[in-house]
Amino acid sequence: MKGAVLFAPHDVRYVEREDPKIVEPTDVILRLSATCVCGSDLWPYRGISPVRRPTPMGHEYVGVVEDVGTSVRTVKKGQFVVGSFFASDDTCPICQAGYQSRCVNAVPMGSLGAQAPYLRVPLADGTLVATPELPPASMIPSLLAASDVLGTGWFAADAAEAGPGKTVVVVGDGAVGLLGVLAAKQMRAERIVLMSRNPDRQQLGREFGATDIVTERGDEGVARIKEMTNGLGAHSVIEAVGTQESMMQALRSTRPGGHLGFVGVAHGVALPGLELFQAEVHLLGGPAPVRRYLPELVDLIWSGKIDPGEVFDLTLPLDQVAEGYKAMDERRAIKTLLAPDGKVAA
Ligand SMILES: [Zn+2]
Repeated sequence: MKGAVLFAPHDVRYVEREDPKIVEPTDVILRLSATCVCGSDLWPYRGISPVRRPTPMGHEYVGVVEDVGTSVRTVKKGQFVVGSFFASDDTCPICQAGYQSRCVNAVPMGSLGAQAPYLRVPLADGTLVATPELPPASMIPSLLAASDVLGTGWFAADAAEAGPGKTVVVVGDGAVGLLGVLAAKQMRAERIVLMSRNPDRQQLGREFGATDIVTERGDEGVARIKEMTNGLGAHSVIEAVGTQESMMQALRSTRPGGHLGFVGVAHGVALPGLELFQAEVHLLGGPAPVRRYLPELVDLIWSGKIDPGEVFDLTLPLDQVAEGYKAMDERRAIKTLLAPDGKVAA
């Protein structure tokens, strides 16, 4: 088969790769219905994370089980499944506590290269969640979103303790930030403030449930949030960028005793100790344990209660993956969906 491989910054190609095969008895092979480009793929694409050797890309996936290892019990050939960007056993003490992204046996799916027509998924019983039956094509983008961006936005909103009576601030208007808005809305937050300067993203944020938009950034943005909250700061803040500026903006927007959920992959972030000490906020972040939320998210999508697939504003055939990266890099697209033949179907 062919698949996406990053050779150097700004050089991603659709090239011949080895066909994935069952390696461990706990593996399955999926025929992917759809995959996509992640905001975090842009870090190596831009050369901010080093690219030392040609690297298969992609960690978001949905598809149909094609082949099953001999010890797999819960998923069957022909089922449609969703998995997260970390394979996890779902049985170790860390998984049992709900932190499957840090499973003692975790396998990063990025190392297996999901931007391809076929994918090996390790620890299939712990990792994959099957849908009740094959989904209609129109539902596949939303199920794909659950694989990472929705699950990550959901974790951030949960970590920020979004809920009734709360003011939630979202720093970052990429797919994760926008789905953090959707998650906060589902968690019945009273006021949801999206920090964004981009009219298209503001519009989608409002559709997902944002009640207010703040266009200022940095300390000016913090001042606006303070004005809106009687000088206190927000109860709940979602950080979905991963830079020093966005993290400080998020921290300074959180009131004492408030909660900050940070899910932007940190690049060069260093928090000043004394300011952190004085801030007196709850911090929880990291790679989202998407697996914890997947059964609930699949239910919400299946029953038509949420439509997170709207974050995909560009669909391309897999062989045009290079354009998919370029469009996101240049912020012409929020998120690129890739379909094996350009057509999304189960
Ligand atoms: Zn585990």
